[in-house]
Amino acid sequence: MNKIEHIGIAVKDLEKSNKLFAALFGKPNYKIEEVTSEGVKTAFFKSGPNKIELLQATHSESPIAKFIEKKGEGIHHIAFAVSDIVSETKRLQKEGFVVLNETPKKGADNKVVVFLHPKSTNGVLVELCQEIE
Ligand code: ZN
Repeated sequence: MNKIEHIGIAVKDLEKSNKLFAALFGKPNYKIEEVTSEGVKTAFFKSGPNKIELLQATHSESPIAKFIEKKGEGIHHIAFAVSDIVSETKRLQKEGFVVLNETPKKGADNKVVVFLHPKSTNGVLVELCQEIE
């Protein structure tokens, strides 16, 4: 597992939060992308070497809608860059972590992603992500 690739924040109103985070970082997001399969609309910000992903649900069955219903807005996941997502997923399964999707799926920002269930990671949803070449 390599560096933190980004931190994901669940928001209710992406347009509003885009303005808020643009004011926070002093510059606008560099990308807005909808991931239909996940039921989310995302916006990405850069602050120095760090990346923040804002996620808004696009329908009520979206994992983000359910998260906000339970916990309210806030930090949703921490994403780590990996160089070989398949072997890293296998390694973590062997270590006893609960993997939500064994087969890497297409995420936002040109990545394939695998999620670890928060029940096996002290309540933190962990995303592994690998850049699509
Ligand atoms: Zn993410």
